[in-house]
This record gives sequence, structure tokens and C-alpha cells, in this order.
Amino acid sequence: MRDDAPNSWESRADRFSMYGFTDLPSVHERGTVVLTHGEGPYVVDVHGKRYFDANSGLWNMVAGFDHPGLAEAAKAQYDKFPGYHAFFGRMSDQTVMLSEKLVEVSPFDTGKVFYTNSGSEANDTMVKMLWFLHAAEGKPQKRKILTRVNAYHGVTAVSASMTGKPYNALFGLPLPGFHHLSCPHYWRNGHDGETEAQFTARMAAELEATIIKEGADTIAGFFAEPVMGAGGVIVPSDGYFQAVVPILRKYNIPVISDEVICGFGRTGNTWGCQTYDFMPDAIISSKNLTAGYFPMGAVILGPALSDRMQAAVEAVEEFPHGFTASGHPVGCAVALKAIDVVMNEGLADNVKAIAPKFIDGMKRLAEHPNIGEWRGIGLMGALEAVKDKATKTPFDGSLSVSERIANTCTDHGLICRPLGQAIVLCPPFITTEAHLDEMFDKLGTALDKVFAEVA
Ligand SMILES: *Cc1c(COP(=O)(O)O)cnc(C)c1O
Repeated sequence: MRDDAPNSWESRADRFSMYGFTDLPSVHERGTVVLTHGEGPYVVDVHGKRYFDANSGLWNMVAGFDHPGLAEAAKAQYDKFPGYHAFFGRMSDQTVMLSEKLVEVSPFDTGKVFYTNSGSEANDTMVKMLWFLHAAEGKPQKRKILTRVNAYHGVTAVSASMTGKPYNALFGLPLPGFHHLSCPHYWRNGHDGETEAQFTARMAAELEATIIKEGADTIAGFFAEPVMGAGGVIVPSDGYFQAVVPILRKYNIPVISDEVICGFGRTGNTWGCQTYDFMPDAIISSKNLTAGYFPMGAVILGPALSDRMQAAVEAVEEFPHGFTASGHPVGCAVALKAIDVVMNEGLADNVKAIAPKFIDGMKRLAEHPNIGEWRGIGLMGALEAVKDKATKTPFDGSLSVSERIANTCTDHGLICRPLGQAIVLCPPFITTEAHLDEMFDKLGTALDKVFAEVA
């Protein structure tokens, strides 16, 4: 299937492009899929083959790949004012309007917004804000950051330190002071005979013990994704946020909701913290923020952190932080349009409408003897492959089961993502019931084929 001719797209991709987060054995065998464009929720490769992208690009292309309004908003803004910064007391009108809009649609009564180019930079910026703030308030030692094992917060040196993945050891990360609490995944991490309520209580007790051991006055903040996305769509155990947030409040540790995936509708509400009913001190947004049509991230501070940051910054007259393209006018114009499209053109409503069918489809495939667990909410989910369902024993890693499933899907025109031994599904918000049928049919066929080979 791989075209090894020196001028094939596969060879050309290999020659000068360095791959990130890519399984090289699969690429060596199969070649990179080089894409030219998209049509609704489908992408099309250089050979004209169409794929239903059940991962919305990387969670973000929620309005599909050819939304005319988004492209027009970008073009209109490029024609008018194609680029500017937000330093030195200047910023574009689009930036002003987007900040107003973000605070309006946030769960906060009021707040302040700071822009970045990515989710990683937004998390990095939030950590720097907390360090700056605590130092300004006379607590320069309040610098440690709490996240969870399996959390994904990005790849810059700080956000990678927050990401609780084993591969970061290859970079000598995490940096000192980044602590990873247990992952609140009851199916995988619950002890024998432990109820879900007991499991949640254990997670909360671990948090409190960690705070006491480290000292609350050394901990700058706690970051959590409402649903852990790149950790494999880990839905928190029942009552998790109700158990941990009060503890963090008690010890004056800011709670940051990393809504890069969950924000703007993915879980069925505008924010994941609404779905899980907790109030954070700040929100990190990216990915869906522009429906993937422009690289952009944002830190949205709630009222208390806004006020405290403002006071801290007033004291030194300047917050010495920002990126050249922070608050880029085209990005802001696209984000304004994307928020309108998602919230007012029926996309968020569609997530709610088709989520039951999406969940049903996962439940049906989870009847397979080699699917140990389905999990998910809204329009994000995962199916976990197991060798033995009763004992939850995974397949031997050398079998690359999830990669084989995903590759078989690709052969059949379906893009889905292998993550550990799970298959992740997060289709665009424009997905119809017919698309879901197509997605589950193709995935079911691939599961049957691969499990017959390896089981
Ligand atoms: C993708 C992601 C990030 C990082 O965003 P980038 O734009 O890739 O830097 C951070 N947090 C979460 C929850 C993400 O899913």
C-alpha cells in the first residue's frame, strides 16, 4: 500500500518532515497519509481517498473542514487588518470583542482573558501567572503544581511537566515541583472490592495527604481536565470533583480547569466544569476555541484571580509576558465566529441530540469479548481493548492492538486514534446519525478482524 517511489508523497513526507507523536513502525510500513482538503467531517488524501475523521482532526475541527462562515470570517479580517500584537497598550478591536465574549460565555460573572497561540502555552502562561501572583502576595515559595497521572496539558517544558505521561522521562521531565496525583479512573485503578464511592474518597484522601505533606503554602495550583482527553477519555469517578474541589478550597489552592478539549460543547455543555458541576478559578481554552481554523489559546481568569492578578501587576506596573501573536486579530475574528457557530448554529445542540446514539454505539461494541470498557460523555469516548475481559488483562504491548485497529479503520476510510490500548472517538459536532452508523460499522468490522488475528 505504501508507494516507495522516490517522488511519492509518502517518500517526500519521510525525507524532510519530522514526525511528532507518530508510531514510526506504522509509517515505515504504511506511509504517511498526506491530505489535501476536507469535506464536512471527511478529509481527502492525495490519492482522492476519503476518510471520516472520527477525531475531528485533533479534537478541534468541530465545525468540519469546509465551514464557509469560518473561512469568510478569516478572509474578511485578513483583508481588513491581517495581524497585530497586544503589547504596549495596543490591541485590535477583535481582541477586545473576543475577551468580552469569552467572559460572557464563561461560568464567571466577570474576569480577564490572556491570549496565547496554543493550549500548551496557555497552561504555561497560567503557571507563570500563579508564580507571579503568589510571589507578589509575599509567598514566593508557593510554586508547586499538582496534576494527575495520565493528564495531558501540553508539550512545552512546563506544560509537559504537568502532563503525567511516562514518555516525558525521555526529556528529563517533569521539572522539580510538579506532582502527579493518581488518575481517577475507577475501572482501571479501583482496588478489588472497592466501590466507586470508596475509590473517589481514596483519591480525595491522597490529595489532602499530599497537600499536608508538601505544605499548602508551597502549592501554587491544581490543574485538571474535566474529562482527561489524551489520557484516553478518562471520565472522572463519580463525585470526584465534588470531593477534591472543597479540599483545594480549604487549603487556598487555585483550581484550574483545563478545558482545551472539553470547552465549547464537547461534553454536552459549554464547559466541562458545568457538566461535572464545579466552579474553577480559571479556565484554559484552545482547540475548539477557533474550531481549529486558527492556532490560539486563552487563559480565562475568574473574578478572584483577575482581581488578585490586577493588584499584583499594578504594583510592578507591567505583566512581563506575552507572545508576538497573542490576541492576533484574525485568530480573534475566527474565534468570535467559531463561538457563534458552535453556540448559535445548532452545533452544541447537535452534540446533545446525537450523544445518546454515540454512547449506545460504544456500548454495543463494548459487548465484544475483547472490549473491557467503554467510557465517554457528550461526543467523546473510548473503547478499551483487553485480552481478558474478566481480569481486565491488556494485550501484550508487542501486538500493537490499538494501532492495528486504527490502521484497519484507515484502510476502510475511517480515522480514529489508538491511545494506549484504547481507541478514541471524538467526531465533529456536525456529525449526523448516518455518520455515526458509518463510523461504528467500520470500527466494528476492524475490531472483528484484528481481534480474530490476535485473540
Ligand atoms: C491538546 C491539549 C493541550 C495542548 O494544546 P496544544 O495546542 O497542542 O499546545 C493542553 N491541554 C489539553 C487538555 C489538551 O487536550
